[in-house]
Amino acid sequence: MAAISNIMIITIPSEAKKRIEKIYNEMDSKEKLCLHECSKCCIDNIEMTYIEFAYLIKGISEEELRDLFSEDRKNRCIFLKDGRCIAYERRPWICRNFRRFPETGNCGSERVHEGEITDNFLSEMDITGLNNEIAPKKFRNMKKTMNSWYSILIKNNKC
Ligand code: SF4
Ligand code: SF4
Repeated sequence: MAAISNIMIITIPSEAKKRIEKIYNEMDSKEKLCLHECSKCCIDNIEMTYIEFAYLIKGISEEELRDLFSEDRKNRCIFLKDGRCIAYERRPWICRNFRRFPETGNCGSERVHEGEITDNFLSEMDITGLNNEIAPKKFRNMKKTMNSWYSILIKNNKC
């Protein structure tokens, strides 16, 4: 982590950025991803790794971030605006998997089959592996909600 003064406390090395984009692109190239227009699963307690949160907020100014996280979204994800994800290209692993889990979403059970479960497992392994290379030691092998990451990494570290 760089100097603790603003959201730039979280930086992603360019090599790690390329790797997370490759993982996400491979996931997006599979069938059965969520439709962009659907947001039923975009609730406010989705969990992600450190590296996913760092990538998710990439390019968002400190002021914008503060506004996003101070808004009362009524249990909806803060990135959901007018029914669309404003961080769609950077959305974390779980958001690319809503349709692959039978216990989440509302798309019908036909969406999940053995191949997709394998894809879930492999892509999660890739994300976890990358996270554990990049994240500070205390943030390895864990997931937190975006509100928790905001609180730990940004809000509580303000000068
Ligand atoms: S980051 Fe985007 S896709 Fe994921 S829950 Fe939030 S609005 Fe939905
Ligand atoms: S899993 Fe289904 S219901 Fe949930 S956001 Fe994706 S498309 Fe919509």
